[in-house]
Amino acid sequence: MLKLLENYKEYKSDLSSSQLDRIRQLAKGQKPEYLFISCSDSRVMPNLFTKSEPGSLFELQNAGNIIPAYGAESGRGMVATIDYAVSVLKVNNIIICGHTFCGAMQALFDPETLNKLPDVAKWLEHSEVAKRIAHNEVQDGDKIKLTRAAVEANVVVQMNNIATHPSVARAIACNSINLNGWVYDLETTDILVYDKTHKRFTEA
Ligand SMILES: [Zn+2]
Repeated sequence: MLKLLENYKEYKSDLSSSQLDRIRQLAKGQKPEYLFISCSDSRVMPNLFTKSEPGSLFELQNAGNIIPAYGAESGRGMVATIDYAVSVLKVNNIIICGHTFCGAMQALFDPETLNKLPDVAKWLEHSEVAKRIAHNEVQDGDKIKLTRAAVEANVVVQMNNIATHPSVARAIACNSINLNGWVYDLETTDILVYDKTHKRFTEA
């Protein structure tokens, strides 16, 4: 048996009666407060580090926590998730969460690693602006610093991209939603939050 299924059996047998009640209640419908967009990276576990219970985060994960601007062919699968979260579930917050040591952001500065991965290369074109911002900020060409700068810039770029989606644009115009940008540090577990006024990330 897969270790995951063994874990599942343990999880199920450990559920308390109050947890089971909550789960049964949730089966009738969800009302999450957050649309949480993060990278697929196995080290990024939003439910764990935000201590979220079932029913709290409506999640979308992909390589590089990228949201193509509305209308882009490669982002079509995401439009439905975003529209459903904003228009139907009426989440109050969207969080776009990047992370340090992101392989997708590293690949921006090692394009030869993408030679045999044309689909990934195409996908990362949605982070091209982040790459340019990082090159402006880091003059010495150090790839670790470039990646770090791109991780932060990419969060801001994707915040701008998601705001082009009609449901999000509408909600922003009505002040019914907050757009948040985070960077989760894999090494320290720190979370940096984007300060829209000063246009920089600060510790949460
Ligand atoms: Zn990543």
